[in-house]
Amino acid sequence: RDKGDVILRAEKLERRFGGLVAVADFSFEMHKGEILGLIGPNGAGKSTTFNVVSGFYRPSGGRLWFCGEEITGKSALQISRMGLVRTFQHDSLLAEMTVEDNILVATSHQLRSHADRMARVRETAGLTGLSDYLHEKAGNLPHGRQRMLSIAIALATRPTLLCLDEPLTGLQGQEVKTALDLFEMIRSELGISILLVEHNMRAVMRICDRILVLNYGRLLAEGKPEEVSRNEAVIEAYLGK
Ligand code: ADP
Ligand code: MG
Repeated sequence: RDKGDVILRAEKLERRFGGLVAVADFSFEMHKGEILGLIGPNGAGKSTTFNVVSGFYRPSGGRLWFCGEEITGKSALQISRMGLVRTFQHDSLLAEMTVEDNILVATSHQLRSHADRMARVRETAGLTGLSDYLHEKAGNLPHGRQRMLSIAIALATRPTLLCLDEPLTGLQGQEVKTALDLFEMIRSELGISILLVEHNMRAVMRICDRILVLNYGRLLAEGKPEEVSRNEAVIEAYLGK
């Protein structure tokens, strides 16, 4: 692989909260087109990593590059406009607004004409199974559809890199399968790379090209799913529980 292939690079990333070290000495590279998993026990620093990568929190140390450009210290708005977009572990949609308006708002800085924006809304709703819900209040959707709407909002700008924080939480059997098919389609048809934090190990092992394992804020292991799932340290820290 050549260097131009790297979409995201972290070098000795660190984030402290007072005396608590949430992420430490965390270096990794992510390649274009990859679905990269980020796993680890509760409190391992996964969401903090998302917050730092997406500019919601400043790193306490270390550096970050996105598509070859340094983004250390840039704001969340600057970073999202460069094409790095994330979802939250808990949905952050506008409950009183319709599904259509939730998706529309996300496109507003990017597309000039109303017709272009509406076309993007319809296309995005189609991808995420929300076409029949466009005029529903977001807050009235069933849980699984709300999760899909969070993804639709992130997807509406057609980012280069989509970071998903536990997108499968609360989804039932068929909904999980539909979501995983969506992630694969986002990658293959839209060419969007995906950084995935997820507790559903079967799903992670099935869909990820490569996995990073965090433990107490530090990189414990990395590799292909089959390598990570038979790594003794990973089994002890996490999978064996
Ligand atoms: P994960 O997503 O892997 O479960 P988090 O990144 O949410 O873990 O948390 C990592 C550690 O950082 C935890 O000990 C958590 O309590 C702490 N932490 C996360 N966010 C904050 C914050 N805003 N203020 C203080 N401590 C935080
Ligand atoms: Mg988390």
